[in-house]
Amino acid sequence: MSAEKIKTEEKSLNFLEEIVENDLASGKYTSIMTRFPPEPNGYLHIGHAKSICLNFGLALKYGGRTNLRFDDTNPVKEDIEYVDSIKEDVKWLGFEWANELYASDYFETLYEYAVKLIKKGLAYVDDSSPEEIAAQKGTPTEPGKGNEYRNRSVEENLDLFARMRAGDFKDGEKVLRAKVDLASPNMHMRDPLMYRIKHADHHRTGNAWCIYPMYDFAHGQSDSIEHITHSICTVEFIPHRELYDWFIEKLEIFPSHQYEFARLNMTYTVMSKRKLLELVNDKIVDGWSDPRMPTIAALRRRGYTPESIRLFCDKIGVQKRENLIDLSLLEFCVREDLNKNATRRMAVLDPIKLIITNYPDGHVEELSGENNPEAENGGGSRPIPFSKELWIEREDFMEDPPKKFFRLGVGLTVRLKYAYIVKCTGFKKDEDGNVTEVYAEYISESRSGADSSKINVKGTIHWVSVQHALTAEVRLYDRLFKVEDPSNEEGDFKEYINPDSLQVLQKVYIEPALAAAFPGERYQFLRKGYFCVDENSTKEKLVFNRTVGLKDTWAKEAKKG
Ligand code: ATP
Ligand code: MG
Repeated sequence: MSAEKIKTEEKSLNFLEEIVENDLASGKYTSIMTRFPPEPNGYLHIGHAKSICLNFGLALKYGGRTNLRFDDTNPVKEDIEYVDSIKEDVKWLGFEWANELYASDYFETLYEYAVKLIKKGLAYVDDSSPEEIAAQKGTPTEPGKGNEYRNRSVEENLDLFARMRAGDFKDGEKVLRAKVDLASPNMHMRDPLMYRIKHADHHRTGNAWCIYPMYDFAHGQSDSIEHITHSICTVEFIPHRELYDWFIEKLEIFPSHQYEFARLNMTYTVMSKRKLLELVNDKIVDGWSDPRMPTIAALRRRGYTPESIRLFCDKIGVQKRENLIDLSLLEFCVREDLNKNATRRMAVLDPIKLIITNYPDGHVEELSGENNPEAENGGGSRPIPFSKELWIEREDFMEDPPKKFFRLGVGLTVRLKYAYIVKCTGFKKDEDGNVTEVYAEYISESRSGADSSKINVKGTIHWVSVQHALTAEVRLYDRLFKVEDPSNEEGDFKEYINPDSLQVLQKVYIEPALAAAFPGERYQFLRKGYFCVDENSTKEKLVFNRTVGLKDTWAKEAKKG
C-alpha cells in the first residue's frame, strides 16, 4: 500500500484527541492522566464501555495513564458487589488501570478543603430545609435571595461544621454550602451544597463519617488530587464546569480540566442504571447479567467479545451532540469478530428426522469438517459421525416447495454439509397432518472432498446423526423493548417491554464434538447464528445462548416496510 493511501485511510482525530495533541504540543503537559470514575451503584453498561474506551484509549494512544476511581460518595446506594463487577468488566474489556482509587479515600482531604473554604469566607453552614433552599435559589430569570445563615462568622461556621462531622445533628438538619453567587445565571453557582448529613454506613468507611460530600465537591477535587489532566465526562455536566473550575481556583489546587462528550444511547434498550435496577428488582430480567440487558456482564454472557465492543466504541466515535445509535451496529461488530474467530458446529434447533433409505443399516462413517474456514488451515477439523438416520431442520423440508426452494421436497436434491448429496423420495405424516419423517436416497459417489458424481446442487443443509446427537437447551434472544427509545415514550418505560424477548428451546440436537463445550466458548452453528455456552451450562445439561443471528433480520424487515 502506498504511503498516500495509508494517509487517506487514517481516521481524523476526534475533538478530544485534538485537545490532547495541542496540550502536549504546547508543553502544557508532558504526559496526560485520565480516569474512569464509576459510581458503584450498579453494573456497567455499554454506555460506560464508551467512556472506558475513550479514557483508557486516549491514555494508551498518547502514552499516558488512567486511574480507576470509584465515585463512592453516596453511602446508601453503593455496594461491594458493584465494585467487584466493575473491576471485572474493565479488565475483561482489555484495559489496565494505573491505580485503583476511591473517592472515599479522600474524605479527610475533602474535609480539610471544606475547612479551607470556610476560612476564606467561601462556605457556610445553612440550617434551611431543602424546600427553603430551593425557594431561596430563585429561578433562571430571577436571582436568588440570601438567608440569615449566609452571614455566619467564620468561627461559627468552623464550629458548626466540626459538630456536623462529630454527629451532633440529625440527617437534613444542616448542610454546608459554598458561598458563590446567588445571582449567577448558572443555577449551579447559586451557593451549591457541598456536604450533607447522612447517618448511614458506607461500604468502605463504615460509620467513620456521617457527613458526605456532594458530587460537585468530590469529583473535581478527586481529579485534582490525582493530577488528572483531562477529566472527561458526559454533556449533562456542562453546567457543572463553572463550579468545577471555581472550587479548584479557590482551593488553589492542581488545575484539572473538564471536557464533555455525548453519552451513548442505543435503540431498543435503556441505559440508566436506575432503570436497569428496576428491571432487575421487578424480575423482568434474570439479574444484571441476563443476556438481554445492555450491561457488559450481559453482553459477555451472551457471547460478545471484548474486541467487538471496542470495535463498536471505535465506530461510533466521539461527539458533542447526543444521538441514538442503532443496536444493529453493535450486532454488526460482533458478527465481524465471530465470523473470523468462532468455531463452526452443527446444531438442529427444530428437528425432524431424515431417513436415508439406501444407506446400510447400522453403518457409521466418520466424516470430517473444518473448524473454521476463515482461519488458517481451516482451524483444524473435527470428526463428524454420519449414519442412516439424521436430524434436519423442519424448515428445510416442504411438502409443496415453491420454485427456487433449494432444500428438500419430494424430487429435490441437496447436499448434506460435509457429507453426501441426497434426493428426497417421500415423507410420512401423523394423524394431525404433521410431517414426522422425511425419506431420501444418497448418491454414494458424491461424498464431500471425493465427489465424482458430477451432480450440481444449489443448496446445502446441516444435520446431526440421530444415534450420535447430544441434546442441549438453546436460548434465543430478541431485543428487550418493542420501541426504539423506551425512555422517550409516554408512561412507564416498562410498558414497552418486548414479551417475546426470550425463547427457550429445550431439545436441540447438537453434534457430538460439542460434548466438551465449556462456559464462555463461542460457536457458529451453521446457518443458525453465533452461540455462546452459558455460564451455568454443565456437561450434563448444555445450555447455549444465541449471541446474534448470521444476518441482520431487522434490516431485512425494515426494507420490506
Ligand atoms: P447512569 O446514568 O447509567 O446511572 P452514570 O453517569 O450515573 O450512569 P457513572 O457510574 O457515574 O454512571 O458513570 C461513570 C462514567 O461513565 C461517567 O464518566 C459517565 O459520564 C460515563 N457514562 C455513563 N453513562 C454513559 C453513556 N451512556 N455514554 C457514555 N458515557 C457514559
Ligand atoms: Mg453518576
